[in-house]
Amino acid sequence: MVSFEPSEEQRLIRDTVAEFARERVRPQARASDETGEIPSELIQQGWELGLTQALIPEAYGGAGEAHSAVTSVLAIEELAWADLSIACHLLAPRLLVVPVVEAGTEEQKDAILPRYAQANFAAATAAVVEPRWDFDLAELSVTATLENGSYVLQGTKCFVPLASVAEHLAVFARLQGSDEVGVFLVDRSTPGVSILEREKNMGLKGLATYEVAFERCRLPAERRLGGPSGCDVNRLLNLQRVALAAAAVGVARASFEYARDYAKERKAFGVYIAQKQAIAFMLAEMAIEIDAARLLTWEAAWKLDRGEDATREAVLAKQYAANMALMVADRGVQILGGHGYIRDHLVELFLRNARGFATFEGLLTA
Ligand SMILES: Cc1cc2nc3c(=O)[nH]c(=O)nc-3n(C[C@H](O)[C@H](O)[C@H](O)COP(=O)(O)OP(=O)(O)OC[C@H]3O[C@@H](n4cnc5c(N)ncnc54)[C@H](O)[C@@H]3O)c2cc1C
Repeated sequence: MVSFEPSEEQRLIRDTVAEFARERVRPQARASDETGEIPSELIQQGWELGLTQALIPEAYGGAGEAHSAVTSVLAIEELAWADLSIACHLLAPRLLVVPVVEAGTEEQKDAILPRYAQANFAAATAAVVEPRWDFDLAELSVTATLENGSYVLQGTKCFVPLASVAEHLAVFARLQGSDEVGVFLVDRSTPGVSILEREKNMGLKGLATYEVAFERCRLPAERRLGGPSGCDVNRLLNLQRVALAAAAVGVARASFEYARDYAKERKAFGVYIAQKQAIAFMLAEMAIEIDAARLLTWEAAWKLDRGEDATREAVLAKQYAANMALMVADRGVQILGGHGYIRDHLVELFLRNARGFATFEGLLTA
């Protein structure tokens, strides 16, 4: 049977993250959206929660806890509830660390992981999405060509968080001459890597994302994640899908709670608007949809933790959660009426952030 009861440890992690999210992250959400900056002290405080270091085996300086997608989605929902930009910034190093912990060779773990087990925040990232109207994860246009024992990366990625400060990038590329996708561990300083201008996005304005160009970027063959025969890239993508689904649930829950509380205080024609069926029915549907998306997300994460192929569940969870978040965040704005459209209230920020879930890949990993 399936149990929805979090373990004692999961409950502790969720509650600790939720408190940090509520007390520290949420109060910064509007300012980061306006300025495009996140205070480094806040990131450092978030880093000290240990969400990245915990996954790193003790042999490489971490806490050596078993990686669990279920535990991750519990934490991601809380952080995304508080603010999606800050959540993505804080968790970006996991985009590199989780793949290396899961699939890295001993040499790759030794070369990469100790840097991310340290006391101070160290930025890392993944490069997945490409700036093409026909972007398809199954047909990447960034290629890796094997030449004289090295891989040569060629092509352009976009929506790469923290690329300008990341020490390492996990780059998803198609192996030249095949349909196979490999993940390559790239030092940002490698010749041929260019970090282009910061992107101007509709939402996620606090998160610095970039286009990154690879121009005959040559890497030692040992930088292919998992060694010469690669790794289970589909599993890594499923961990990303599940993380995005959890984040979408968090953003939607934020909008729902904001609108619900507003509706219980706002009077129109002498009655609280929450007492009007037009509003009450909207709130009820929002709550149902959030719970449905969360259950899909948990199921996919649970299957990933069992080591099973969770592609179907992860795709369904991500797709459903992306649509749900947009619907819920839109209704959050509607429930506030004219006040939802102005920046005095966070519901417009939640809506702009929710809009991206249909587009993002590689911003978070479970
Ligand atoms: C800063 C600001 C400036 C504005 N400037 C102008 C302006 O210059 N000109 C202009 O024409 N308008 C302006 N507006 C818009 C407008 O005046 C008000 O927003 C609007 O009249 C108030 O109604 P509402 O539906 O927006 O909000 P509310 O009345 O608070 O309604 C909130 C929600 O409750 C629902 N609701 C309300 N009553 C009922 C009911 N009886 N039954 C069921 N559902 C209900 C609404 O549909 C909405 O979804 C402005 C609004 C703002 C916030």
